[in-house]
Parts: sequence; structure tokens; C-alpha cells
Amino acid sequence: MDETADKKPSVNFIEEIINNDRAAGKNDGRVHTRFPPEPNGYLHIGHAKSICLNFGLAEQYGGKCNLRFDDTNPTKEETEYVESIMEDVRWLGFDWEDRLFYTSVYFGQLYDWAVQLIGQGDAYVDSCTLEEIRQLRGTVTKPGTPSPHRDRPVEENLDLFERMKNGEFKDGEHVLRAKIDLASANMNLRDPVMYRILNATHHRTGNEWSIYPMYDFAHGQSDSLEEITHSICTLEFENHRPLYDWYIEKLALFAPQQIEFARLNLTYTVTSKRKLLELVQEGHVHGWDDPRMPTISGYRRRGFTPSSIRRFCNETGVTKFNGVTDLARLENSLRDELNKTAERRMGVLNPLKVVITNYPDDAPEDLLEAVNNPENPEDGVRQVPFAKELYIERDDFMEDPPKKFFRLGPGREVRLRYAYFITCNDFVKDDAGNVTELHCTYDPATRGGNAPDGRKVKGTLHWVSATHALEAEVRVYDHLFSEEDPTDVPEGGDWKDNLNPESLTVITNAKLEPSLAEAKAGDNYQFERLGYFCVDPKDSTSETPVFNRTVSLRDSWARKQKQQNKKG
Ligand code: ATP
Ligand code: MG
Repeated sequence: MDETADKKPSVNFIEEIINNDRAAGKNDGRVHTRFPPEPNGYLHIGHAKSICLNFGLAEQYGGKCNLRFDDTNPTKEETEYVESIMEDVRWLGFDWEDRLFYTSVYFGQLYDWAVQLIGQGDAYVDSCTLEEIRQLRGTVTKPGTPSPHRDRPVEENLDLFERMKNGEFKDGEHVLRAKIDLASANMNLRDPVMYRILNATHHRTGNEWSIYPMYDFAHGQSDSLEEITHSICTLEFENHRPLYDWYIEKLALFAPQQIEFARLNLTYTVTSKRKLLELVQEGHVHGWDDPRMPTISGYRRRGFTPSSIRRFCNETGVTKFNGVTDLARLENSLRDELNKTAERRMGVLNPLKVVITNYPDDAPEDLLEAVNNPENPEDGVRQVPFAKELYIERDDFMEDPPKKFFRLGPGREVRLRYAYFITCNDFVKDDAGNVTELHCTYDPATRGGNAPDGRKVKGTLHWVSATHALEAEVRVYDHLFSEEDPTDVPEGGDWKDNLNPESLTVITNAKLEPSLAEAKAGDNYQFERLGYFCVDPKDSTSETPVFNRTVSLRDSWARKQKQQNKKG
């Protein structure tokens, strides 16, 4: 593991709470956290933040962190999600050891606790519909009205609740509610629903249960059962904390402390699982692991490294205020890392043929030495074959170049990286007027890229030998959305209108340096002048290698945004 990815800038407010708790001897100084995903989708970058925080704190304080599937909603949850979540947490570099839990394992215990609350007069069966309950709940300024069933005798409540469990009723016929305070300023305390009837098959418990606990009734008690000391969640649960504490107190259980922090939001990104599911189901992307998705599996396939994501999560800090983080920070975290670690290669994405007219037809193989990584001499060098026919990038030639264009044009001389100086003498066009071939001469004395007579050229181009090129498909990915805040749409608008139509460009005839035939899934490369690339782990084959562009060399969106702001 890259150590520097796991350093935090300073003490955050959660560390402060933990430090104080430890100083006061609370829980004998123990720190035990958990990461509690609901298996109703793949993990996204926001979850990575929560994972780094929870597992990170446990590591930092010599404590433990559990992985717990919060699987209380049978209608939306699936085993596929459970498996992907485990894979993603491991890939990020964290280990729950033997502490894998499921809220569904606690269903029996939670049921018994509900029965206990009924017995204590702290819960009742309500036979109103959810709509009626909502109407009777009142508003912030108006207290709620008691349901006609609020004062049902305990015996009747116990009987009804048992029959709810036994599957004697249809969905929605009854609910179990906590009896708290219909006038509370906190709406969550106005007799919240604890259990609802759902005659549905659960991905783990099958048809064993006809009733399922609500998140609020399940979460705190699950934390308590696992003796979690610090139950960290996002800010929207702040108003639920009194309820969390109420259940724990009424049941006289071990009391974990709920702590809320601001969720991570990223520009040009949506992180609601519901929205991500919509993108998948409607085919706007090719699955949850599409490299444009902000999911962990999408980033993995795109070529992000776990350490760059951890570094980003740690460096963006932990606060109490909702804000939006620039996507460029995530990308820069990766660029900083790959600049140091990724080997350089040459690849041509939009090829233009170059014929070296004075290069002997019968020349022996000409292997040139190329540095693998100028940032890391230990990576050594490799041999790149030169030949009479080459490819360069179409953009690197102009028929009638302006003065400031330092690349190739008629009569101009440039350096081919690690190879020779070449001069363009002529070009060929097809009937449509497109340049199809350049005719150049090379200077054999400049082998390696320097002229013995000291003459200078301003441009250095990447190139690939046409004879030796590895033919590949290259997928150039860009931001999935073209707006900074994709969900900021006018009344009646659709956030999906903000999808970037250019988020994926497929290049089927890229020409790559032959050594890239050995590239394996998980290897990152910098294609000189173009960006960082990796082998697509899913679609790449030896016949048709597929490379994904992970990220460009520089962020071009900040500039675009500035231009837009000026216009607007
Ligand atoms: P979504 O809104 O995408 O459906 P969720 O909060 O419902 O997310 P869960 O599976 O319940 O998804 O989340 C598991 C944990 O991850 C929770 O503790 C939650 O607070 C945390 N989490 C989810 N999204 C973010 C985020 N954007 N930033 C930080 N933590 C997050
Ligand atoms: Mg949730």
C-alpha cells in the first residue's frame, strides 16, 4: 500500500470527538466503526469517502471496522450488489477480516425488541394507510393528530404484530409505530413507523419474513449488537439521531454514538444510487462498471488506482458543511500518482502515414532506446523499432501552418521522439482533398534525437512504426455530464439532458508501439502527449486489444468553464 495515500492533513472534528472520548475513558478507549451499505446498487465515490473514513479511523486508533449489509428492503436488494460491494471494499485496500454482518441476521432479535417495546407501551399497531399517517402527522407548525389506533391495548397490539409477522395481512394493511410524541418539533419523533408489511422474497432470508424493520429501527440496534462505538453517517441523519438514541434508551442497550458528516459531492457527477440505476437501466451507459460511471468498479475499469482514490478521500477532509468538490481534484490525485509510476509509451490515435523517402528499403532492424519513465530512472529503457513507414498524429501536420505551429508542415523539420529529425518535403491527397500521406526525409546523423551540428527544432512528435504497430481500439472517455451541477435543471427539465454527448469516443484504428502487446489489465501507461491509458479488463482480447483513456494529461474543463462563465 502507498503510505502517503493514507495521510490526513490535520485533526478533523470526528478525530476530535474520538480523542476526547478516549481521554475520558469512554468504552475503555475502544474505537469500533462500521461501513453499512445497502446492497441496492454498486458503490460510488461517495461510498469510497465513507469507507476510507470508517476503515481509516479504525486503523488509525488500532480499532476495528465492520462491513455490514443494511439489507432491510427486500424489494430493491440483490446478491449481485452484495458481491460487487465486497470486491470494491477489498480493492480499495480495506479488510473487514471476520467481521462481515447482515442486518437481516438480526431480524429475529429486532422482532423480539419490537415485542418488548409493545409490552412497555412504547409501540402500537396502526391500521391507517401510509397516506393517512402522513396526513395525520401534521406539519412543522402544526402538531400531529393521534391515529384512532394509538391507544390499542397491549394485548391487541401483540396479537396483531404476531399475525403481521405470520403473513396474515396484505402489504400496507398495518404498520408498527413507536409511541413517542406527536407534537415534537422533530418530525422523526412523531410516532415513526418501525415495521411495515412486505410480502416479498428477501435475497438472504427468502420468504421467512412478511414484515421488515425500517432503517431507523434497525440501524442503531445493529450498531449496538456489534458494539460499535462511533456510528458515522452523513448529515441527513442528524435529525434521526434523537430517534436512534430513543430506541437504544428504551431497550436499555449499549449506546453507540452517532456522528454525522457532510457527504461528498463532485462536480460533473451524480452520486445518487437511484439516478445511477436509471443511467444503467435506460442504457445511457454500458452497465454499472462503465468507465464513465462514478462507481468504484467504473473507476477501476477506467484505470484509477485505489491509492489515488484513498488520497483524494483523505485530502478532501471531513466537515459538517455540505459542499461540492471539484472533479479535477480526483483526477489530479491520479495524475500526480501516475506521473510518478506509469511507464511511457507511444501511441497514435488519429494516424497519418509518413514515408521516409531516403530511408533504405533494405535497412536492418533499427531499434531505438526510449526511456520508460523520466520520473523514475529505475524503470529503465526499452527498444522501439523505427521503419521506413511510420504513423504520426494527423493533428501534428498542417498543410499551411501558421508561424507559431511548431509541428510538421511542408519544408519544416521536427524531431521524432527518441528517433531522428525529419523534414517534410511533400504530401499526397485523396480525391476529397484529405491529406493521406507525407513524404519526409530523415537525417541519419540525428539518431537518438539530437543533431551533432547543434541545430535545434522546436517540435517533438510521437510516432509509431507502421510495420510494427499494434492495432488497437482506444476508448477516449470524458466527463459523463457537461454541466458542473447536472441535477440543477429548470422546472420540468430532465437532469439527463445534461449528459455529455462526447463522453465516449471510440477509435478503432489506433496504432500503438508494439511493446504494448504485453500490457495487462491493471497496468497504467502514459501515452506520450496524450494522457494515461490502460487495458480494458473486460473487452480487450489478443486479437483486438482495447485501451481506455483513464485521464488526459491536463484538466481542460476548468478552462472551458471559465469561457462559459465569461459568455454567460
Ligand atoms: P445513495 O444516496 O447513493 O443511495 P446511501 O446513503 O443511501 O447512498 P448507503 O448504501 O446507505 O447509500 O450508504 C452506505 C454508507 O455510505 C452510509 O453510511 C452513507 O452515509 C455513506 N455514503 C453514501 N453516500 C455518501 C457520500 N456521497 N459521501 C459520503 N458518504 C456517503
Ligand atoms: Mg442509505
